[in-house]
Amino acid sequence: MQILVTNDDGVAAPGLLALTQAMRALGDVTVLAPDHNWSASGHVKTMERPLRVNETRLADGTKAYASDGAPSDCVALALLGLLPQKFGLIISGINPNANLGHDVTYSGTVTAAMEAVIAGVPGIAVSLDSPPEHGLLDYTLAAEIALRVAQRVAREGLPAGTLLNVNVPYLPASEMRGVMVTRQGLRVYRDALDRRVDPRGKPYYWIGGEVPTGVDEAGTDFGALKAGYVSITPLQLDLTAFDMLEKLKGEWK
Ligand code: MN
Repeated sequence: MQILVTNDDGVAAPGLLALTQAMRALGDVTVLAPDHNWSASGHVKTMERPLRVNETRLADGTKAYASDGAPSDCVALALLGLLPQKFGLIISGINPNANLGHDVTYSGTVTAAMEAVIAGVPGIAVSLDSPPEHGLLDYTLAAEIALRVAQRVAREGLPAGTLLNVNVPYLPASEMRGVMVTRQGLRVYRDALDRRVDPRGKPYYWIGGEVPTGVDEAGTDFGALKAGYVSITPLQLDLTAFDMLEKLKGEWK
């Protein structure tokens, strides 16, 4: 099987290297990733400027492609014919931070997998729930789990319009309690606007604040990680609020 590996942290990110190495057990791996960090860039389609692609190498010498486009652009480039391979799977990560609840709408890691789904190719996003303060992360276990998930998707496929959002707790294997299939939980964002003034007297703004938390509810992605489980959430691109359909129709009468 031909596998495309991408991410949103940039082609030099250690999580991408770990994922690339793990995926070799499943098939032929091609790496096409952004040339810089696009974390929290959402689902992007670059239309107002040209996209460049350059050959590069990962830290282990693996040939890779780097683009100045977003993660979703990288997937689109690969699937629209930049590369001759017929990809059977797109996998994105390993992101150094969890992508839970509403994070999936911000996440470049997840939206890369969404782009795969739009093109009709199974997509998987993999993230590691690392502690807020950390040094070099160990991606070994997350990469093993990514491989297990990818093996199952390769075997069974995914329904059209769906992708898998995988989040791995940052625990030693001995403390990992297993895999839980979850729904999206609720993130609690603690964003704050930081207004400053530049040396020329003009205001500028940072969207800052504290690290988001989440509602620890059983059956959710956040709840699974809290309990020491790998969280696998099947996501769909159909965002329709089906519960509202009938009610909303009535209100126009
Ligand atoms: Mn990222």
